[in-house]
Amino acid sequence: TFEPLASDFYAYESLLSEREREALAELRAWLEADVRPVIDDYWERAEFPMQLVEPLAGTGAMSFAWDETAPFENSAVFRGFVALELARVDASISTFVGVQSGLATGSLAVAGSPEQRREWIPKLASGELIGAFGLTEPLSGSDSARGLRTTARREGDEWVLNGEKRWIGNATFSDITIIWAKDVADGQVKGFIVPTDTPGYSASKIEGKISLRAVQNADIVLEDVRVPERLRLQRADSFRATASVLRLTRAEVAWSAVGVAIGAYEAALAYAKTRDQFGKPIASHQLVQDLLVKCLGNITASLGMVVRVSEMLDRGEQRDEHSALAKSYATARMRETVAWAREAMGGNGIVLEHGAARFFADAEALYSYEGTREMNTLIVGRAITGSAAFV
Ligand code: FAD
Repeated sequence: TFEPLASDFYAYESLLSEREREALAELRAWLEADVRPVIDDYWERAEFPMQLVEPLAGTGAMSFAWDETAPFENSAVFRGFVALELARVDASISTFVGVQSGLATGSLAVAGSPEQRREWIPKLASGELIGAFGLTEPLSGSDSARGLRTTARREGDEWVLNGEKRWIGNATFSDITIIWAKDVADGQVKGFIVPTDTPGYSASKIEGKISLRAVQNADIVLEDVRVPERLRLQRADSFRATASVLRLTRAEVAWSAVGVAIGAYEAALAYAKTRDQFGKPIASHQLVQDLLVKCLGNITASLGMVVRVSEMLDRGEQRDEHSALAKSYATARMRETVAWAREAMGGNGIVLEHGAARFFADAEALYSYEGTREMNTLIVGRAITGSAAFV
């Protein structure tokens, strides 16, 4: 049965249908039973728990968004709560899903032909295939709309890809990677479904991360990688298609940021009730309550924002600047929140076992990926002033 989260202070979950609440309850139960007990260990060893992919797919978390695979009709607010729920237990798992279901499947949904959608989306939703999304490059991050150096050259019925990608999530074990490259003929960005066993494609793990250690990122090298025309995303003729994918996934990252903030806040609240100092629980000291209430204020404000941005998506009203503002605002509030939660736990706040430290570290990656706070700010700045500061 569904128990509302106490940290959803204004009860936004009441917007969900009965069926949506049931699905969320099932997901929450699975995360508590199978993910929370093991995830710190994977995080510490910088390993992804591959055995969780199949049961994760079984929860429907990678299927809900797409007509081809949705088990029941559902809202964008519900899918946001799914991202929140995943991130509330672990941001690496929510990032894995964000890449698999958001960036990779989203590229096929937004820019694939009907045949490409039918062929690939069910396999990604079931976890039969793992997907990745390769946009960022060693020399092109924030400026990837115009700065891409990876090239695509058409030769008859094939395309030849050359270049390098950096930071690509899931790409150490992905079966297909969506590669975004510039067509040398017309200078436009196009997308390609690249099976990772294609000759000339190689991926290597990025070592030494202090954030999102359980989910893996890769550097990719493409050397004369040949893909047939039928693997080019048929409806991606310019960076506009890539931007459409990012508009959707940025809103999801904003939801994940709320989940990360809640994860840290819940750990701090539980700790503060049991830790005694000066003869009473620290939760009864005024300044500790102040930290906890500031956390809840951030969470509640961000939750209101992401709920609204998802409602706008369902109504066909969501624009790039709407999801950009939610992403930059919610991740900035998340970063404050995890720091306050950690602070409320004193020294134990920096130890994995006490539950806030992993969220504290993972927040840094969410803050910068899918467009840094600065770039998302400039997208909003362009919308409100009519003047683009980043071209
Ligand atoms: P840079 O672009 O070099 O920016 C450095 C700093 O300069 C930032 O603070 C930035 O805001 C600032 N800056 C840059 N330009 C301006 C400007 N015009 N005005 C003001 N400030 C500016 N990419 C993928 O394609 N696929 C993935 O799956 C993926 N997963 C990721 C996972 C993780 C954990 C991380 C850390 C990154 C991932 N990325 C992925 C890449 C991510 O999207 C980029 O890191 C991000 O877009 C920023 O690019 P950059 O790191 O190259 O920073």
